[in-house]
Amino acid sequence: MSIESGTTEVSREPGGDQERAGFDEIHILWISEGMSCDGDTVSMTAAGQPSIEDVVLGLIPGLPKVNLYNKVLSPSLGGEDFLAPYRAAARGELTPFILVIEGSIPNQNIIEGDGYWTSFGNDPDTGEPLTLNWWIDRLAPKAWAVVTAGTCAAYGGIHAMAGNPTGSMGLSDYLGRDFRSRGGLPVVNVPGCPIQPENFMETLIWVLHHAAGSAPPPPLDHMLRPQWLFGRTVHEGCDRAAYYEQADFARDYNSPKCQVKVGCWGPVVNCNVPKRGWMAGLGGCPNVGGICIGCTMPGFPDTFMPFMDEPAGGSLSSILIKPYGAFIRRLRGITNIAVNREPKWHHNKPELTSGYAPYWRPSPARPQRGTR
Ligand code: SF4
Ligand code: SF4
Repeated sequence: MSIESGTTEVSREPGGDQERAGFDEIHILWISEGMSCDGDTVSMTAAGQPSIEDVVLGLIPGLPKVNLYNKVLSPSLGGEDFLAPYRAAARGELTPFILVIEGSIPNQNIIEGDGYWTSFGNDPDTGEPLTLNWWIDRLAPKAWAVVTAGTCAAYGGIHAMAGNPTGSMGLSDYLGRDFRSRGGLPVVNVPGCPIQPENFMETLIWVLHHAAGSAPPPPLDHMLRPQWLFGRTVHEGCDRAAYYEQADFARDYNSPKCQVKVGCWGPVVNCNVPKRGWMAGLGGCPNVGGICIGCTMPGFPDTFMPFMDEPAGGSLSSILIKPYGAFIRRLRGITNIAVNREPKWHHNKPELTSGYAPYWRPSPARPQRGTR
């Protein structure tokens, strides 16, 4: 069996061969045949603000008409019918399109002889499987924008762990950091294991508005993540952060307190899930008792393992905050008792003791105007 192995054939010219924005109609070619569990597609179907249905049905003002090709949401029965737009795009007959990659990219070059790691359809002439790498090599240079769905596609994720046999990597490692799409964009990364549904949809909406010519390019950080979504840490949005500040730490997973001593990496992880919630605003890892294991981060999972151990930095910071936190917690406890009382003038006695004393009413306790 001979398989055409994946070699990067994309333009290395940053910003070269660009297409203007201002499209009335655009295609989204979503390939989930990277090394993955398809969890990002499943997660995306839970989005509500907006939903993928809102986008496809044209319910969002200002967006181009969107034709989505995704195997889970496809009305086709699969096979050649489903593959037709992908084959047309590879021939350069379907433009413009946004390429969405889900799953990490294996290294076909390390395979000696026949074989492949993952494939998407077959070559109609030979009947041989077409590798994911084959598709990326042909579609990425023609795509108006390239977006990753999930940490595996963004940074390699679980399949790219130390000791893996596939040489898996994220898409920008495969294409090169200087890759630019036909729209002049680098790879747009939406990490998460899986993606938070609205994080992905918001990013897609921004890219679609940009394609329509009504928005600037999405602002990305140095790891090519949307800045407005990944610019804060989990800790900065966590419901339990007040416990941390008071050095009140959970010792097991049945506690509502800060979980840093039972393995939470939230203080150093870029993710908005505690603020945004998971579905319909509900959930969000540490808010509902799950330690943050850094699933949006480039080093996930190796950097954050073993998951249930206290992070080294967490150990230091929790020791340092202890004297301040314990002292402040005690003072706040005393003040809390003091402020949990009603004012003494709230009573049903015959006299008013609230201190009410209008200046026009003579009072023996107060000198009258003009008497001094
Ligand atoms: S549970 Fe994690 S994210 Fe929340 S306050 Fe504690 S360390 Fe920070
Ligand atoms: S809070 Fe942590 S574990 Fe949860 S989604 Fe964000 S990065 Fe992943």
